[in-house]
Amino acid sequence: MAFEDTLRYLSHATSIMGVSSRIEQLLMTPTRQLKVEVAIEMDNGSVGVFEGFRIQHNNARGPCKGGLRFHHEVDGDEVNALASLMTWKTAVVGIPYGGAKGGVQVDPRKLSVRELERLTRKFTDQIHFFIGPDVDIPAPDVNTDGQTMAWIMDQYSKYHGHSPAVVTGKPIELAGSHGRVAATGRGVALCAMWALRDLGIDVEGARFAVQGFGNVGSWAARLLAEHGALLVAVGDHGGYLENPEGFDVEALVRHVDASPSRSVVGFPGSDTSSLEAFLASDVDCLIPAALGGVIDNAAAETIRAKLIVEGANGPTKPDAHERLIARDVMIIPDILANAGGVTCSYFEWVQNNQRFYWTEEEVNGRLEPIMRRAYDSTAALARSKHFDHRTAAFVIAIREVGKATALRGV
Ligand code: GLU
Repeated sequence: MAFEDTLRYLSHATSIMGVSSRIEQLLMTPTRQLKVEVAIEMDNGSVGVFEGFRIQHNNARGPCKGGLRFHHEVDGDEVNALASLMTWKTAVVGIPYGGAKGGVQVDPRKLSVRELERLTRKFTDQIHFFIGPDVDIPAPDVNTDGQTMAWIMDQYSKYHGHSPAVVTGKPIELAGSHGRVAATGRGVALCAMWALRDLGIDVEGARFAVQGFGNVGSWAARLLAEHGALLVAVGDHGGYLENPEGFDVEALVRHVDASPSRSVVGFPGSDTSSLEAFLASDVDCLIPAALGGVIDNAAAETIRAKLIVEGANGPTKPDAHERLIARDVMIIPDILANAGGVTCSYFEWVQNNQRFYWTEEEVNGRLEPIMRRAYDSTAALARSKHFDHRTAAFVIAIREVGKATALRGV
């Protein structure tokens, strides 16, 4: 289903552009797909077997790039869709990569840290010949982080020699980049602020809601709150909360860090709510920053926000997208809105390859102009051709990938 959804967005753009069916076929098909069974010894002595995937969608513009997620709903269809989104995302922001994605079908909350380490290392054993600093560079995604990347780098280096550039999103102490942890949320917050201004809404005092308070959602919320916007509704795997006066975002981050379930629930001074109430919140901007497919037709009917900024990958179903656009809701699509993460991954990879490291100010100073250029060209095309922003972003991305493909030859 997820892959079909991505294809619908893609073919909408290719039909507008008049792309030949031959090229369209090429753009839709992933170049290489690897599926593995990851068997590990569990702490209780039993054997756990987990399905793992790494899918490389397109490498016309450079090595494949994209995250690795650990989630019990991971399957080939979803990884395929997410790999394709990475191709378009890297092209929209103009960084020299293609697109890939990986995943292991596992609920990481049910594994101990040692089991997770064994799983990650075994998965790396099975895909090490498939990835590499100039081939395919994994990064964190849902339920993976700097520690996961450190294990992959260490395991990969046993086969190939010290190879920091094989993964990005590593801890600072292990050749990571300053600013990487906050980068996706920073890009989301920047897009939200630019889009609010385009809609004639002051950022100061603007009301926003965030679904998912992990890395992306929490950093987007922090940066928007720093600019005077009010977080009035929030939710995650634990439940939903509202506070019409605006949450103290820093206190909420501390609460989540201290809570064993890493959830916003139980944050003092807030009212509990539901997913339905959350989606229908009276806000200017809604930021889905959790999983895919959450905005469906029913949600599209109730959403009151004038702006949706997609922190997650694939949060909006195509039919819901059409309904929202028909209602004049502006949607800043995932391939633009959450591209700050992979852009900072690119900086990390450049630093690893140069063996020369930048300060946090340098990193952030380079991130903003790249996001700004991508936002401006998308918004300008949307305005001039009366496209929605998703269509405009896809058109720009397909053009770039198409040009590179034509230059290299099929
Ligand atoms: N997982 C992130 C994404 O979906 C980051 C990918 C990367 O840094 O390579 O964009």
